Amino acid sequence: MRCPFCHYPDSRVIDSREVEDGQNIRRRRSCPECSRRFTTVEEAVLAVVKRSGVTEPFSRAKVIDGVRRACQGRPVDEDALALLAQQVEDTTRAAGAAEVPSQEIGLAILGPLRDLDEVAYLRFASVYRAFSSADDFVAEIEALRADHPRDAGEPVEPARPDAASTGPPGAAAARDGGPPVGRRTSVV
Ligand SMILES: [Zn+2]
Repeated sequence: MRCPFCHYPDSRVIDSREVEDGQNIRRRRSCPECSRRFTTVEEAVLAVVKRSGVTEPFSRAKVIDGVRRACQGRPVDEDALALLAQQVEDTTRAAGAAEVPSQEIGLAILGPLRDLDEVAYLRFASVYRAFSSADDFVAEIEALRADHPRDAGEPVEPARPDAASTGPPGAAAARDGGPPVGRRTSVV
């Protein structure tokens, strides 16, 4: 590996360690010419095979571009998009293949996007799954509702952040037991 400081054509590995559960290897290197040290990261190339048969490296930026279009006008910020792209890459890499069809990237986007924003999810799914009629949307929306029976008509109780402070003395002690207790007391 060429030294990035003096461009000497070789360098010496002085330390190697696996990071991110063995997904990549980080090596500390030293230049025999200028003695400066630098770090390299070695990671398996994840290739995406497009419908045309052309192969290109997986790109989080491309995932973000595709999802951002579906998120226009929705309350989804750049951090959420970056996290989603990271999830898509992790899921795809975890499958263990060196090459994946681009359709699988689309599939890996659907799950986290559905958790992020259901409107953006419907837009993305309509393109990805090539919806051809309103019935396709209805079927997808019914599938979404089936997973969230709470949203299907039951009134949503307003959040009461002050519930714990105005409740009986026991409530504050119980709250120390774990985060879900505050929500539970407002439902009971
Ligand atoms: Zn050097």
